[in-house]
Amino acid sequence: MNFVDVNIVLTFYKSSVTMCSVTEEGAVVFETLNQVEPLELKCRKCLIEDGNVVLQKKYVYCKTCFVPMVTHKFRATLGKSKLVNRGERVLVCVSGSQSSVSLLHMIWTGLQQSTYKRLTFDPVVLYIDESVLHNYPHDQKDKIKELFEKYGLTYRIVKFAAAVYSDNCLNEERYIDQYNDKLKNIFNSLSDLTLKEDMLMKLRKYAITKLAELLKCTRIMTAENEHKLSIRLLSNVALGRGSQTSLDIGLAVNNKNGDKTSLVTIRPMRNLSAKEISYYALFNNLDDFMHSNFLTATSEDESIQKTTERFVNDLQVDFPSTVSTIFRTGEKISEKTSAIAYCSLCQGIMDVNMSPSSAMEATKYSKYVSLMGIKALELSLKDVKNEEANQKNCTGCKCKKQDLKEEIIEGLCYACTHIIQNLESLDDLPKDILSKEKERLQFKRMEEQIKDFLL
Ligand SMILES: [Zn+2]
Ligand SMILES: [Zn+2]
Repeated sequence: MNFVDVNIVLTFYKSSVTMCSVTEEGAVVFETLNQVEPLELKCRKCLIEDGNVVLQKKYVYCKTCFVPMVTHKFRATLGKSKLVNRGERVLVCVSGSQSSVSLLHMIWTGLQQSTYKRLTFDPVVLYIDESVLHNYPHDQKDKIKELFEKYGLTYRIVKFAAAVYSDNCLNEERYIDQYNDKLKNIFNSLSDLTLKEDMLMKLRKYAITKLAELLKCTRIMTAENEHKLSIRLLSNVALGRGSQTSLDIGLAVNNKNGDKTSLVTIRPMRNLSAKEISYYALFNNLDDFMHSNFLTATSEDESIQKTTERFVNDLQVDFPSTVSTIFRTGEKISEKTSAIAYCSLCQGIMDVNMSPSSAMEATKYSKYVSLMGIKALELSLKDVKNEEANQKNCTGCKCKKQDLKEEIIEGLCYACTHIIQNLESLDDLPKDILSKEKERLQFKRMEEQIKDFLL
């Protein structure tokens, strides 16, 4: 983060926070390094040293006790999952954010230990270069490369568009301009910031899953902290992704992409607060990098995600338990075991066979009423599909494209439907998603044709 950003953040928050400030992404910004001067109070752990850190406005720690405590929390979360085996290849996703550089440092430290505490998996560090979508400093990629070289771990730096569209993205960048254009087309045709950001999240997930498979990794580690996951939890509910919550914030999540796979996503930083991570990064002199999304520097009423973020951040300033309360509540929402269908775009659980009184059906009905007007009273909800089908009996080519879109939408979850409806063309979607959808449609048509002959 550069000096100008720090100053802007401080101007906003100076009045409410005396020592440090919370940024958009939950990272804590310190006014100057000198701010971490010993406090008047003693550390609650060793009771000898003067405190350097105050957590939740009451718990005081000295620097010497704080770093091992944070590391312990990370190791305990990782240990709890019991999912990483000795020698297993783990894809460690580093975006450049404070959380991700801290995750990398913690893993590296764990690998250096000589005792039984040593981490025994085989990490492959990944940085996805999103500079095609956001304006990053031109030397950012080189600086990240430098950082990875310093740690001496296996690493890969892949361009975002190549990861989304190419099956050979690890070895060649021949069609990168073409891929960049396709990716930009997708985001240019989505005018709504909420949808843009939601699509970015889904494509990032898609790219990471694909790269994990290409790099022969069976585990993926991402660095979301408690703060970020709490915001994601509330945003998910607002976006209509409530049933997918455990998939997006859980400790260990199987990536369900239709076929049986052992690819598991682990979030070992999820029990650490943004403040804990910021102090960890500060005490270990870890520099973070610019990491943007479509919501960076936008106003809070332009998107659902940003409104949620501001809501959580504002509450957190006065009530320091806000984030952990939201987070713990989210943990109680368990995954539906009876999931029978997964969305082709986000791999999330689909709400199928909903009862007529569900929120989903109510939304559908309300959309139907606003489309049909007075006719809505004459037809029942069941007739909607027939009516729509009758209206579409036209051979025009534009309609055909629209038909394909409508058919593809049937295989998507509620939130992804909104994204696809707003896309001008489906041609820019990754071809795996399209081919999977076409396969599903073919299967459906075949089923229709032979249904009378089935016993
Ligand atoms: Zn201490
Ligand atoms: Zn979806």
